[in-house]
Amino acid sequence: MLEVSGISGGYGGLQVLWDVSLIVQRGELVALVGANGAGKSTLLKTIAGLLRPFKGHITLEGVRIDNMPPHAIVARGLALVPEGRRVFPYMTVAENLELGAFLETSRARIKEALEWVYTLFPILKERRSQLAGTLSGGEQQMLVIGRALMSRPRLLMMDEPSLGLAPAVVSTVFASIRRLLEEGITVLLVEQNVRKALELAHRGYVLENGRIVLSGASATLLSDPNVKKAYLGV
Ligand code: ATP
Repeated sequence: MLEVSGISGGYGGLQVLWDVSLIVQRGELVALVGANGAGKSTLLKTIAGLLRPFKGHITLEGVRIDNMPPHAIVARGLALVPEGRRVFPYMTVAENLELGAFLETSRARIKEALEWVYTLFPILKERRSQLAGTLSGGEQQMLVIGRALMSRPRLLMMDEPSLGLAPAVVSTVFASIRRLLEEGITVLLVEQNVRKALELAHRGYVLENGRIVLSGASATLLSDPNVKKAYLGV
């Protein structure tokens, strides 16, 4: 579904990614793990069209997207949930969600998407008239995922959805990611919580200093001595 091939990229004169290749098959949950500053967010931003790669190419369902602006990539069915749970605090939950459907002009289709998101995250329906800034961290995470889902993506990329959340809340967020898979959505998940991410994912890639150093089935990665030592603390 997604093919990233030989991507080098970064910010202006600063190269962060070095010859990165990965694939995500339809229906898969793929985890991209690695330490702080490895370049995970930079890779997601490059795939989403927010940064232009210096080299390489990216295809979504067989179509090259590395030369497209972000909104055109969203229109092709790929959405990004950025790091940091940025909601519009003085707008209601429903208004935040509707912003996610910015490409949709049909009121009926926006309403339909909203109802779908409310089915996936009933808490958002309960809180729909509440100001987003007053939600808990976990609820805000659901809201930003819900907002991305409003564009009806077939592939959803998530950047550190568990960051800064209490362990019980992390489990709720991860359970909702599992629900997305059941809905037929393909997921590329960036996480520092390596164990949890690999326990949830089908396959994983390890990014170190902007390079993919290891990839494989999650179970294989979880038992890999280098992964254990570097990321699992065992
Ligand atoms: P984290 O989990 O800490 O976000 P990461 O793996 O997602 O880590 P990136 O955020 O992609 O890492 O950062 C990779 C490198 O790019 C870092 O050295 C960072 O300082 C640098 N970087 C990130 N954003 C910018 C920017 N806007 N301008 C210049 N350099 C940046």
